[in-house]
Amino acid sequence: MTTPGIRPLVAGNWKMNGSLGMAGTLIGDLKARLGQGALPVDLLVCPPFPYLGAVAAALGGSAISLGAQDCHAANSGAHTGDVAAPMLADLGCGYVILGHSERRTDHGESSATVAAKAKAALAAGLTAIVCVGETEAQRNAGEELKVVEKQIVESVPAEANAGNTVIAYEPVWAIGTGKTPTSADVEAMHRHIRALLKQRVTGGAEIRILYGGSVKPGNAAELMAVAEVNGALVGGASLKAEDFWGIAEGAARSAG
Ligand code: PEP
Repeated sequence: MTTPGIRPLVAGNWKMNGSLGMAGTLIGDLKARLGQGALPVDLLVCPPFPYLGAVAAALGGSAISLGAQDCHAANSGAHTGDVAAPMLADLGCGYVILGHSERRTDHGESSATVAAKAKAALAAGLTAIVCVGETEAQRNAGEELKVVEKQIVESVPAEANAGNTVIAYEPVWAIGTGKTPTSADVEAMHRHIRALLKQRVTGGAEIRILYGGSVKPGNAAELMAVAEVNGALVGGASLKAEDFWGIAEGAARSAG
């Protein structure tokens, strides 16, 4: 089950959803649940850029961490509309999601771009959550391990270690679709990623590897119990406190 000694992380990717009001309500609800009894998992919320400051204030020193959904590879300069990693650190972010499939698709981000952003994030003291995952066509062609291996090799910088990097395996065809891979398929991929991390980076045995793609309260415990699954990156279900908390409880049960 999971990986002995690694504390799970349950991360909420709000994507381009929510409002200031919704953010306040959601954080208030999560803090209230946390107040009734902490879980043996780390919790992280990643709201859209405009709400980061308000969510940082609402979190107000709680055990829930704050993250962003992207950053630029440069620390400053003529990059209209972009946000630099040190700015995120200034706002109280501890994490940044990089290379999400929606960014790779909507913004044409290559793995080289993701690696450059990850380097900037690490230099700013942030933990980079580097996303990888195959398309449905790639899985149907039996290429999923090869595709994800290439993404890991090209997206994870040499400076990565367990203190500054998290990997999120998110099969593109499972994101927002209600479809999930079998536990056996998740295990095969996570074991492959673990082996690659051990070969390539310092402390690769301890880097958290999250599963993402249609995680819900009803399937969280089963997915989180899979070998080398060290938590979840949650999209849609992170927008409701009850669902996000239900997933955290599932991860806690699997963590034993
Ligand atoms: C995601 O976007 O990272 C994600 C996993 O989405 P969902 O949980 O909605 O499938």
